[in-house]
Order: sequence, then C-alpha cells, then structure tokens
Amino acid sequence: MADYEKMWEELGMNMELHDRLCQVLPTAFGDVYLSQENRPEGMGFWDFVVSGIHGIRPAELIEAQKNGQKVFGTFCVYVPDEVVIAAKGIVTGLCGGSQFWVPGGEKVLPKGTCPLIKASVGARLDKTCPFFRIADMYVGETTCDGKKKAWEILGEDVPMHIMDIPQMKREKDIVKWAGEIEEFKKVVEDFTGNKITVENLNEAIKIINNKRKALGRVFNCRKAAKVPISGKDALLMMQIAFFDDPVRCAEMCNKLADELEKRIADGVSVCPEGTKRILVTGTPLAIPNWKLHHIIETSGAIVVCEEMCTGTRYFENMVEEDLPTLEAQYMALARRYMKTNCACFTPNTARFDDILRMVDEYKVDGVIDVNLKFCNLYDTEGFLLERTLKEKGIPVLGIETDYTDADAEQLKTRIGAFIEMLG
Ligand code: SF4
Ligand code: SF4
Repeated sequence: MADYEKMWEELGMNMELHDRLCQVLPTAFGDVYLSQENRPEGMGFWDFVVSGIHGIRPAELIEAQKNGQKVFGTFCVYVPDEVVIAAKGIVTGLCGGSQFWVPGGEKVLPKGTCPLIKASVGARLDKTCPFFRIADMYVGETTCDGKKKAWEILGEDVPMHIMDIPQMKREKDIVKWAGEIEEFKKVVEDFTGNKITVENLNEAIKIINNKRKALGRVFNCRKAAKVPISGKDALLMMQIAFFDDPVRCAEMCNKLADELEKRIADGVSVCPEGTKRILVTGTPLAIPNWKLHHIIETSGAIVVCEEMCTGTRYFENMVEEDLPTLEAQYMALARRYMKTNCACFTPNTARFDDILRMVDEYKVDGVIDVNLKFCNLYDTEGFLLERTLKEKGIPVLGIETDYTDADAEQLKTRIGAFIEMLG
C-alpha cells in the first residue's frame, strides 16, 4: 500500500503507527481467506479491495471531495443512506473491528466499553484510519449508552449530527423516526448545499434498494443444500458493503450471485455433504473481525447466515419506491428502518421471529449467539433468545468474545464440542 503514503500524510495520519497496522493485515487476511479452497472467482474483487483497503476507496473519496461532494461517516444501520445519496453525498461506514485500535479507545473510554466503540474511537484518536480522517461529518445515533457518550468525544473536532432513535416501535415511534429523518434531510442539505427533492430521493431509494436486493441474492444462494460460498467470504462482502459505492457494490454482488447460482446448478459446494450449517446472530462483526467465522469454519462446520447488522439486518426489507411527496418518503423510510431488530429496542421479539424463520430458510443445524464483551443489550437479550430457541428444539451456543486472540483456544474447544454435539 506504499503508493498511498503521500495521501495518508496529507490526511494527517500517524504514519509510524499506521505502518504497523499495514504490516499485520495482509498476514491475517492470507491466513483466514487465501487459505480457503474452491472460492468463487467473484471474490477476487473483494480480495482486491482488501489488498488496498486504506488506499483505493479513500483515494476515490478524496477525489469526490475535490469535486465538491461531502463524505458522511456512519456507525449504525439505522442511519438512512438514501438521504445522503439524494444530496449527492457519499456514505462510509466507520465501525472499527480490529484490536489494533482498542488501546487508543481505552485512553479516553472506560475499559468496560464494548470493543466496537473502543476501536472506533481509537481509530479516530490514534489517526490510523483514513476513513475517519476523510469523513466531513459523522452521523451518530442514540442506540446504546456507550455510543451516546462516545459521540461527545468523537464530535470534538468533527461536525457531528446525532439521530435520536426511539426505544420502542409503536406507531408514534415510527412517526418520531420519520421526523428525525426529515431533520437529517435538512442537515444534509445545509452541509452539502444540495436540495433534496422527491425525484432525487426516489432515485436514491432505488439505488439503495438495488444494493439490498443484490446482497440478498448472494444470501439466497447460501440457502442451497450444496453451499456455494463460505461464511467467511459472505461476511467479507457484507463488511465491504458499508464502505463501497452502492452502485458498484450492487454490480459486484450481482456478478457474484450469478456465479453462485451457476455453482448451485452445477452442484459445486465449498464444503463436503453433511457439513453442519450454522447461523450466527448477535452483535455486528465489523471489518477485520473474522475470528468467529474462521474458528467455526476450521472446526468442521459452515456459516450459512448472519442475523446481525453485518448480515441480514443490513439488506432485508425494501423502502417503498415512487412515492409522490417528501412526507410520504420520510414515512416509507421510517417504516423500513424500524423493521430492523436491534437489541436497543424493547420489546425486540421480532428478532427471535426472524431467527426462527432463517433457521428454517437456511436449513440451519445450530445457532451461535455471539456477544461482544461489555455489550449489555445483546448480552441481556441473549437469555430470552436462547430460551426461545431451546423451546423450539434448536441447538444454540451463547458466546462472549472480544477482538483479542486470548480466548481463541477456549472458543475452538467450545465451538468444536457444539458442532460435534450437532451430530
Ligand atoms: S447492533 Fe444496533 S446499534 Fe449496533 S449497528 Fe446494529 S442496529 Fe446499530
Ligand atoms: S455492540 Fe452493543 S455496546 Fe457495542 S456499539 Fe453495538 S449495541 Fe453498543
């Protein structure tokens, strides 16, 4: 990634520290990804993106900024990309998934904060992530307590807009969320200098719906008896989807889906017949957090679905298209986004219904409920979720982990025993 050194310097990055990150990533990627056999050829695109993860897309974003476009950094799947796209803005995900960034976050946050928040704050404060340097505005939300407080630190030297998310999903909460979307629209208009109209918002809704459909096509292929793609590869596609241009993302995912559909027709599988099929649910797995999938898939099972924000929650449910007024569009957006089932809502039993449906659709043998350490929301919800699954006779394993490798051996033992128990 040496070609990008000048760009990183101009972004004010900590070059020495960043060099250390650049040294570890290719080895980790090689060990986890390139060691797999019989990968779909289409994954070459995502391998290429990872090979220049801090260079290729950041350079595109900087070029767009030179042409007057604004970049919005987001941290949650509730923030409606459509509003930004309508104003010719660009959205980039900013969630940190590496232990490398955690100590930087711990300098200002309590150690008992979830690693996702610590890594995100560390990536910003340590100046080791170009996406955090490039974003013109951060968009936060009031989903969990850790994030709410982190915004106050992150917003000290970057414009920050916070969307106030309801905690329940009654009709009045959906109306409130539509109001938040309308307010966000005004913020985006002011910041970009571009007016959002019924027409350009409609166009943006279609762009993001197309991206959702393309991601959904790939997931659909994972339902086949002969699984044409590993869970690790599908996870990588999802993780990059938060950073990529949405039109290109849809195009590449559709190409991959074409190949996977052909593989299914030809009976090509990435694993032997009878391999146990796992659904992973819980807290998000931000890039480059591949630990859990790697352990599962090197323990004799395959991940066929992720019910998480780096999974089905990101692409399921479309926004109604071609509505005639902005007010109708805000409500349509609010309705779609409020169908997402995060543990920050009470009650959140629709998530359990989703998981039960997916267990059936993806022909799942067992569920692994993963919780990032110190995420009280998902940890607490785990009790009811696991009880619901057990009542239905679905084997479930609850685990708590972080970004370190300290628990890797213990996880291998527990996950190995769980897979063996599946018979
Ligand atoms: S888990 Fe909840 S807070 Fe985190 S990204 Fe998903 S929806 Fe947002
Ligand atoms: S994993 Fe939990 S604690 Fe961490 S950001 Fe998401 S909701 Fe908040």
